[in-house]
Amino acid sequence: MPAPAPPPDGPCVFCEIAAKRSPAWIVHEDGATVAFLDIFPFTRGHLLVIPREHGARLTDLTPEAQRALIRSVAELCGRVERLAPDYNVALNAGAAAGQIVFHVHFHVIPRYGEANPFRATTRAPLEAGDARKLLVELARP
Ligand code: 5GP
Ligand code: ZN
Repeated sequence: MPAPAPPPDGPCVFCEIAAKRSPAWIVHEDGATVAFLDIFPFTRGHLLVIPREHGARLTDLTPEAQRALIRSVAELCGRVERLAPDYNVALNAGAAAGQIVFHVHFHVIPRYGEANPFRATTRAPLEAGDARKLLVELARP
């Protein structure tokens, strides 16, 4: 039995993005999922794929939402391969695993040959000019 998610301090930040009440650089969306650029990317093109259905972790979702999420992750992996053939897909479940936002999300992180991009010290905020370019590069074919 997983530990329950900590109570949110306010509205869920990713529900707000999915509902378009908070801004995000959205790369893809469908009836069940949304994918957008991480605001604090580990590498260029780092994106997050979320279900519209709120749940802290994958096992909180309905089977339909799980399937839709995995389908979207595969779709976004295909698009990220335009940026770099290699990438990491990650899901942090629970605070001890590094989860900060308690709305389930997959990270898709293109890799360009850097030894270890997963360091807070080398992370820079997403820059609007590059985000605009990435939206074109990652657009639906
Ligand atoms: P976690 O550690 O929970 O797996 O990762 C949460 C991710 O969400 C982090 O990589 C963080 O940069 C990203 N993030 C947090 N808040 C926002 C936001 O408001 N907008 C966007 N686009 N990304 C966010
Ligand atoms: Zn949520």
